Amino acid sequence: MKLSLLTLLAMEALMTATLSATTLDERIDRAAAQVETKVIACRRDIHQNPELGNREFRTSKLVTDRLRELGIEMRTPIAHTGVVGILKGGKPGRVVALRADMDALPVTEQVDIPFASKARTKYNGQEVGVMHACGHDAHVAILLGVAEVLSTVRDQIPGTILFLFQPAEEGAPAGEEGGAALMVKEGALDNPKVDAVFGLHVTSRYPVGEIAYKPGAEMAAVDSFRIKVHGKQTHGAYPWLGVDPIVVASQIVLALQTIPSRQLDVSLAPSIVTVGAIHGGVRNNIIPDEVEMIGTIRSLDSKMRHQIHSRIKRTAQDIATSGGATADVSIEPGYPITYNDPKLTEQMAPTFRRLTNNVEVVNAVLGAEDFSFYQQKVPGVFFWLGTRPKNKTAEEAASNHSPLFYIDESGLLLGVRAMSHVAVDYLKK
Ligand SMILES: [Zn+2]
Ligand SMILES: [Zn+2]
Repeated sequence: MKLSLLTLLAMEALMTATLSATTLDERIDRAAAQVETKVIACRRDIHQNPELGNREFRTSKLVTDRLRELGIEMRTPIAHTGVVGILKGGKPGRVVALRADMDALPVTEQVDIPFASKARTKYNGQEVGVMHACGHDAHVAILLGVAEVLSTVRDQIPGTILFLFQPAEEGAPAGEEGGAALMVKEGALDNPKVDAVFGLHVTSRYPVGEIAYKPGAEMAAVDSFRIKVHGKQTHGAYPWLGVDPIVVASQIVLALQTIPSRQLDVSLAPSIVTVGAIHGGVRNNIIPDEVEMIGTIRSLDSKMRHQIHSRIKRTAQDIATSGGATADVSIEPGYPITYNDPKLTEQMAPTFRRLTNNVEVVNAVLGAEDFSFYQQKVPGVFFWLGTRPKNKTAEEAASNHSPLFYIDESGLLLGVRAMSHVAVDYLKK
C-alpha cells in the first residue's frame, strides 16, 4: 500500500491533535483532583463568613487575593463588589465566560456543622442571621478551583477565559442596582468581547455526581405586580352607600388564577400568578377606601410573559369597573427567562456525558436566576450540579433558601471538572 505524503501528514496531524486533546483533558482532571481539598476548605471559609448582596467585601477580597496569586489579570471593582478575572490562553481563540455568584441570604442557619454561620446583620431595618442558604459559597469556591486548574494548563488553551464573580444574585438592597444586570451594564461581557457564557447552580434536587440541564427555557422570568383597588369608604352595615374594595379585590384574586389556567396555552409552557399579600381595612365594621395587593408572576415563554402582564391589567381594571371601583396596576419587570441556547446546549452535552454517567435532561422550574441577563447578550448554558447526600431523597433534603440547606461537598469536584472542561471544549470547537 502506498500512501501519499499528504495523507501521511494528515494522519500525523490527526494523531497529534488526538494525543494533545487527551493530554489536555487528563491534565485538567489531574489538576482538578489536586485542588479538591482546597476548594472544600475555601467553601467552608466563605460559608462561615457569608455576606449579603452588594456587601460581599470579604468574599471579593478573597477572590482578588487568590486570582492575584494565580497571576490572573483582573477587572475590579465592577458592579459594586464584583471581580472579572481574565485568563489568556497560550493560543489565540474565542472568549468564554464562567460565572459564580457570591451573595448570601438573610437566613439564620440551623445546620449542625462545625463551620455553620453565626453571622448576623441588619436587613431592611431588621436584625437577621446571614447564611449561604443558596450555595453561592460553593459556586465561588468551585470557580476559584477552576481558575487554578485552567491556569496550570493555560499554555494549551486556545482562547481566553473570563471568570465572572458576581455580587447580589438574590437581589440588591432597596434603592441599589446590582447583580448580573449591573455586571452587563458595566461591561463585564464587552472587554474582551465574550462569545459564550456558562454557569452552574448547586441543588439538593439532584444527588451528588449528577449534572442536570434543560435546553431552551430552563428557569422562569420573574416579575412583580402591585394592584391598588380604590373604592369608597362607608359603614360596614350600609355597603350600598360606598364601594367595597375588599369584595372587588377578592374577585380580582380569583380571576387572576384564570389567566394561567384558562386564557393561556398550558400545553406550551406553565406559568404562575401568585398574590402574596393583601392589605386593606382597619376595623370589622368599616368598609375601607382602598385595598392593596402585591404578587409575583412566573413565565417560561416571553410572548406569554407579555400576555400575562396585559391580562392582569385588563382583569383587575375591568372587574374594578364592574363594581364601581377603579384599579391601578403596576408591573415591575424582574429577571428574564434563563434560556439555554439550544444549539450551544447540544454542543456541550457530550462534555457533560463524558464527565459523569449521571446526566439528566430535566423539566424547567419556575424559580428565577439573574444569569439570564448574560444570556440576553450572548448564548449561554446554565446547568444544575447535584449536591444532595446519597442517603437522602429529594423530598427529605432541605431545598435551597432553607435554614437547613446542606451541601454534600463530595459533589464539588465534579463542578470544578464540569466548568473547566466546558470552557476548554467550547474553545476547542
Ligand atoms: Zn437563591
Ligand atoms: Zn442561587
